[in-house]
Amino acid sequence: MKISHDFDLTGVTTFHIPVKARIYAEYESIDELRSLLTAPAYAGMSRLHIGGGSNLLFTEDYDGLVMHSAIRQIAIARETGSDVYLKVSAGVNLDSFVEYCIEHNLYGAENLSYIPGEAGASAVQNVGAYGVEAKDLISEVFTIDTATGDEMIFQAEECDYGYRHSIFKTKDFAGRYIVTDVVYRLSREKHFTLDYGPLKELASVDGLTLRDVRNRVIEIRRSKLPEPDRLGSAGSFFKNPVVTIEKYNELKAEYPETPSYPTPDGVKIPAAWLIENTGMKGKSTGGAQVYPRQCLVIVNNGDATAADVVALFGEIREKVAAKFGITLSPEVNIIGKL
Ligand SMILES: Cc1cc2nc3c(=O)[nH]c(=O)nc-3n(C[C@H](O)[C@H](O)[C@H](O)COP(=O)(O)OP(=O)(O)OC[C@H]3O[C@@H](n4cnc5c(N)ncnc54)[C@H](O)[C@@H]3O)c2cc1C
Repeated sequence: MKISHDFDLTGVTTFHIPVKARIYAEYESIDELRSLLTAPAYAGMSRLHIGGGSNLLFTEDYDGLVMHSAIRQIAIARETGSDVYLKVSAGVNLDSFVEYCIEHNLYGAENLSYIPGEAGASAVQNVGAYGVEAKDLISEVFTIDTATGDEMIFQAEECDYGYRHSIFKTKDFAGRYIVTDVVYRLSREKHFTLDYGPLKELASVDGLTLRDVRNRVIEIRRSKLPEPDRLGSAGSFFKNPVVTIEKYNELKAEYPETPSYPTPDGVKIPAAWLIENTGMKGKSTGGAQVYPRQCLVIVNNGDATAADVVALFGEIREKVAAKFGITLSPEVNIIGKL
């Protein structure tokens, strides 16, 4: 196990904002994780488990223990008919898991290509892209209960999955359960999800392969989103708000071009459209900027501080609320005082 004191988190978070953790521990086995949880030296300290740090904004130094898994295994858990269940350790890079599926001709995960982060967080965040969400594949989530050190296995139905939501994000579960492995259900049977706009054109391609879909997804993502290694960000900073039909009708009356998507809970309005229509596209505060190619993303142009990002976040929220009467919620996990 690697334990570091006063650890600079810049390199383990994709926002690349300079903040420190009092202790940073990277464990290589579940026994090591259990020993961290019971070590008297860390008793009573705040604790946070991170993955690839691609959906985090630390607003200040973290006065506690930051944990990360260095366990990276993929194994077949079982097979039933054409379904293959892969047990993937939390520390496996999500895109490496997708690549593994492509190499082994397993269908289902290809639309999740190139999403930053790790398998463990995919089950917490219910990551999604191009019409597929992690919940569509997840069968079970293996966790360690930090209160007892016991293993707890959650069936997908128990995880309360929704749009970028799971039970692991709720008050009583966040921080209590550390995901150690995720079991995903893939299929040997050829099938694709190509309903999302830019992927539709692939539906007519003869002999379409998993590799073709993966390559197209990566191509689209590269054209729209910042590459974490080159330009710091945490992906979409805001969730797309879901409003009532009445609210939507009000908006439509005032702004007839308002884009919308019906959902079971109301009408989803793209947050990027709201932000763009407040004139914030490309606007900067210090080193933080609303990404000109995708307004949902706040980028670190190199020297952004957490205060710059927080100020820009606040300004966007105020402008959207003032113009449209909608309060945007952050998709990014904000750690520290706002
Ligand atoms: C350029 C870019 C593009 C992105 N595109 C997308 C996209 O298309 N779709 C999408 O859904 N997201 C996207 N994201 C957001 C991000 O990739 C996802 O939220 C991802 O799941 C975060 O994974 P992570 O391992 O980096 O988790 P982190 O950011 O490290 O952590 C996220 C949350 O999960 C918790 N957590 C992490 N690991 C564990 C664990 N083992 N046990 C318990 N809790 C844990 C953390 O405490 C935190 O609350 C993007 C981000 C970037 C930077």
